[in-house]
Amino acid sequence: MKYQCIRCSLTWGEGEPERDGYSHGLCGTCLKDALTPIYRKRQAKEGNFDCFGKAADFCDQFTCKYRELCLKSM
Ligand code: SF4
Ligand SMILES: [Zn+2]
Repeated sequence: MKYQCIRCSLTWGEGEPERDGYSHGLCGTCLKDALTPIYRKRQAKEGNFDCFGKAADFCDQFTCKYRELCLKSM
């Protein structure tokens, strides 16, 4: 299936959109953008730094539950 981001129109995946159409969703970058304010608010509520998405490509907080998406390069 070929996907198209509803926000930036980026496409990814395999398939023939002329025949099957697109499946819509958010690309990785737009998903991370959308989740950033939500996750930062959550971090602050949990009494932590609201650091989601602020680390360049390394963070020493190996047990952070936001780590996978936070450090994912898009
Ligand atoms: S991985 Fe590091 S920078 Fe990212 S949210 Fe967790 S603690 Fe913050
Ligand atoms: Zn997008």
